[in-house]
Amino acid sequence: MANNTPNRILVVDDVPVNIQLLTTYLSSEGYIVVSARDGKEALDFVRDVRPDLVLLDVMMPKMNGFDVCKILKSDVNTKFIPVIMVTALNELQDKIKGMDSGADDFLSKPFNKLELLARVRSLLRIKYLHDELQEKVIELQKTKEELRQLAITDGLTGLYNYRYFKEHLQQEVTRALRHRLHVSLIMIDIDHFKHYNDTNGHPAGDVVLRNLGHLLKDNIRSIDVAARYGGEEFSLILIETNKDAARVVAEKVRRLVEKRSFEFEGKQPLGRITISTGVATFPDDGLDYDVLVTRADQRLYLAKQAGRNAIIADS
Ligand code: GH3
Ligand code: MG
Ligand code: MG
Repeated sequence: MANNTPNRILVVDDVPVNIQLLTTYLSSEGYIVVSARDGKEALDFVRDVRPDLVLLDVMMPKMNGFDVCKILKSDVNTKFIPVIMVTALNELQDKIKGMDSGADDFLSKPFNKLELLARVRSLLRIKYLHDELQEKVIELQKTKEELRQLAITDGLTGLYNYRYFKEHLQQEVTRALRHRLHVSLIMIDIDHFKHYNDTNGHPAGDVVLRNLGHLLKDNIRSIDVAARYGGEEFSLILIETNKDAARVVAEKVRRLVEKRSFEFEGKQPLGRITISTGVATFPDDGLDYDVLVTRADQRLYLAKQAGRNAIIADS
């Protein structure tokens, strides 16, 4: 174990006096000892008690030690628990069989206390290193996942960033092509945002971006994606959504932004913070990423020309 709790050792033997002897030896060294009388009980105990090491008698009625060992070593949850095979016979044939079943070490009866404890210590050392390594691997995987999240997240708004947007839309277009589905893209740009920054300062502008980001995320389905495309531009990827449904979403979002109150917005040219949006849909408007983004961008531009605070989904 990688922490300081005493090691648990499972002793498996069908002869009570053997269990007693091994328990006495091992307890005197501070190990916690649990015992099982046959193979089946041993397997149950391994699952329940999660021992750090198993001392396994070879000769047992019903299921012998080789079979128990084979089962332990073929299960991903128990394969790294060291197994010491305890055998009365010091025969080569027996050791080969033990090794083939995955045993880590051997001990012959009658027991020599010092040898027993030395072998136990040695295997527990390896188990400890293995557990430590395992913990490091898990930590590493966690860090890797955190880095991946960082790499696809926009720092200001917490939405996905451009990198993820591009990756995801390409993926969804491929999927839609294969399964004959619709995908819609909504490009969103804040109206007169330069004016807002110039009038109220960049930090106030950042607050608007953050709040708008939350609003978008809160108003799409969990399977859809909201991303910050660039400075004051956002994008929504709506999967399995046709043009009509996308238009409804775009209009809903436009209205929500218009209604929502933002600080200092009275000083904006339109008297409020508003957005313009362009919609493009696969396959109606194009069959690949570039064409869809271009079409949505063109319509966004048309929405600006049409006076802003508008959505354009066809042209
Ligand atoms: P239009 O209605 O035509 O979109 O006008 P606009 O002023 O919004 O467009 P323009 O592209 O001229 O200005 C965009 C502004 O967005 C410029 C920049 O100050 C602001 N901006 C871009 N990124 C950020 C950011 O991260 N934080 C803040 N506060 N402002 C940003
Ligand atoms: Mg812009
Ligand atoms: Mg703008």
